[in-house]
Amino acid sequence: MKANVCLKECDTDWGEDQCNVYKIPCSTCSWSYIGETGRSFNTRKKEHTRNVKMHTKGSNVANHAWSKNHQIDFDNALIIDKANYCHLKTLESWHTAKTVYVDNNSHPLPNQYRILLLYILSHLLFLYFLNIHFT
Ligand SMILES: [Zn+2]
Repeated sequence: MKANVCLKECDTDWGEDQCNVYKIPCSTCSWSYIGETGRSFNTRKKEHTRNVKMHTKGSNVANHAWSKNHQIDFDNALIIDKANYCHLKTLESWHTAKTVYVDNNSHPLPNQYRILLLYILSHLLFLYFLNIHFT
């Protein structure tokens, strides 16, 4: 059985620049990239920017920009969630699963979370239709 042990911890004072899940949109289409980092978001964003400029192989962001001739909207890249280091991968998968037309290297969302996400989304959809029909 695989142990679920977190070997790294972020600063307990979770600052702006650590243990973030972030989103980088494309300015040409609705595609976006969702990533996570235990380092500074700005440092990671600079790395993505450099990857696009250098057309770095293995970079999903650079691949999208160059293969489709699209502009990446780094000005509107933003932090969408925060967590301790142990939960970053799960949150990255969570945000990936609930975002349309997204790319990244995350692992598939564990099934129990996928069921929960579908439950939440179906209830939100139900509330959305109630609001349309009764307002
Ligand atoms: Zn695009």
